[in-house]
Amino acid sequence: MKKLKVLTENCIGCGACVGIDPEHFDFNDDGLSHVISEENLESEALQNAIESCPVSIISIEEENEEETSEEVKTTDDSNEKAA
Ligand code: SF4
Repeated sequence: MKKLKVLTENCIGCGACVGIDPEHFDFNDDGLSHVISEENLESEALQNAIESCPVSIISIEEENEEETSEEVKTTDDSNEKAA
């Protein structure tokens, strides 16, 4: 599943993405862009918005379902004792 992301903390509020693609972006209360829709991620307007962002913080990422589950196992070798 694909996920549209904006690194809002790095947004400079230029408004390019909101102007080009209001379907996917809007300003939050701080005047910074955030994602408002995950639909229609193949749209031309979205591609244009991604390319137009002056700080390149808009991306579409593949989301692996496995990533959300805590599958990380820590191997603790220090506990190994020679019995
Ligand atoms: S184009 Fe980039 S910098 Fe400009 S408002 Fe959108 S996310 Fe922020």
